[in-house]
Amino acid sequence: MRVLVVEDDIPLATILERGLVEDGYAVDLAQRVVDARHNVESNDYDIVVLDLGLPDGNGLDLCAELRAQGYAVPILMLTARDSLSDKVSGLDAGADDYLTKPFDYPELAARLRALVRRPADARSPVLEVGALKLDPASRRVWLGAIVVPLTSREFSLLEYLMIHSTEVVSRTDLLEHVWDANYDGLSNVVDVHIANLRRKLAGPGGTATIETVRGAGYRLSTEEEPGEVKDQS
Ligand code: CA
Repeated sequence: MRVLVVEDDIPLATILERGLVEDGYAVDLAQRVVDARHNVESNDYDIVVLDLGLPDGNGLDLCAELRAQGYAVPILMLTARDSLSDKVSGLDAGADDYLTKPFDYPELAARLRALVRRPADARSPVLEVGALKLDPASRRVWLGAIVVPLTSREFSLLEYLMIHSTEVVSRTDLLEHVWDANYDGLSNVVDVHIANLRRKLAGPGGTATIETVRGAGYRLSTEEEPGEVKDQS
């Protein structure tokens, strides 16, 4: 998951970045509207955290502008006051949710998880693909009944593959969504992490493999354990 944080309050932006990186997000920071616009044009984000008051403009206007251009990524607006008119304007401008400052990091993290999940399945916080189960809230992964210990990056990688489990995911997709700008260009980090994930998923709890689709990327493939009933369409 790659997040763009648009916030000109550096201490706050730093706290958010630290928390988000610890939670396994790839994070880019922008302090001005012009930087945010550039980031959105050149990168593929899963979510945007947008402050209202920015030195060269207004988060509301930027939000409305992005929506007018058809930008559909979830946007969480940060408002400085608990003012009803700010919230209404934010939602009118196309924000998906808002958070009033001051807030605690865990609250922001919970809102982001809810927003990122919303399009796929708003009711079920746990992702399931075959025998694989992933809980974004506790950041735990099970293969069958067995807990699979993963690093933060491996977790993010698997989460992305599970969300897109019916698709072939390209190496560029993974670099864009699981790594931040600092890693761009070093494409073998993907191979290294995929190899580690494969090793950890080759456990006794079930079968989950990450197939390499030549020239296209990777696809998560799982086999049900015998007797297990798949309950999703
Ligand atoms: Ca501000």
